Amino acid sequence: AEDLLFRSEKLSAIGDLSAGIAHEIRNPLTTIKGFIQFLSRYEDDLKKMEYFQLINEEIDRINFMVGEFMVLSKPHVIERKPTALLPIINKVVKLLESELTSNKVRLSIKCEASNIKIDCEENLMKQVFLNLVKNSIEAMPQGGIISISVSVTDTEVFIHFKDEGIGIPEENLMKLREPFFTTKENGNGLGLMVSYKIIENHNGKIQVESEENVGTTITLIFPAIC
Ligand code: ADP
Ligand code: MG
Repeated sequence: AEDLLFRSEKLSAIGDLSAGIAHEIRNPLTTIKGFIQFLSRYEDDLKKMEYFQLINEEIDRINFMVGEFMVLSKPHVIERKPTALLPIINKVVKLLESELTSNKVRLSIKCEASNIKIDCEENLMKQVFLNLVKNSIEAMPQGGIISISVSVTDTEVFIHFKDEGIGIPEENLMKLREPFFTTKENGNGLGLMVSYKIIENHNGKIQVESEENVGTTITLIFPAIC
């Protein structure tokens, strides 16, 4: 009976997830359809360019989201190898360069030793770092500083992502790993869920400390490579 209960809970969780996905995909599709109808009516080239740009952005949104879900569908094929963290962090920073500048966000990166490694798949780790830094940027509408620091003990590797943003109200801390939990007008609420999944698949842990209007520190903890 316990098993049945578990199964029905699982099924209803899948139902919620599917409804969420359907909703998230339908939204940008509806927008795209609308813009295409507009486009067919407009003579004005500038106006057309504007709509093409919006269509492009909406397609990117769908693409990005489907990418997040791919991670969930194949958690067992990760190919891990000892990988230095600093180069991954630098690549993510490069990807976000223009976003950082236009949002007046500065980065401080500190690595206790330059060659700290963890056992991971680089692309998945990139996806996590990207999600965390993006969230920090979005939490600082006036700009500010994001500090990333990496440290090690005999047994563990720590990566801290600290921002000076709006913070997370206590009642939301429990919801961070739920799919589709978002407080943003344009958010999809998938970034942290996917990040938790990836980190746990790497035998890691995520700790969140936050104070409203002061900032948030997210710490990733991995087993050290011996
Ligand atoms: P999204 O960014 O699309 O909203 P996420 O899963 O990345 O989805 O984050 C879920 C929610 O967690 C955000 O909407 C926000 O409320 C909160 N959050 C995550 N990171 C931060 C942060 N660094 N500062 C403040 N709030 C955050
Ligand atoms: Mg996010």
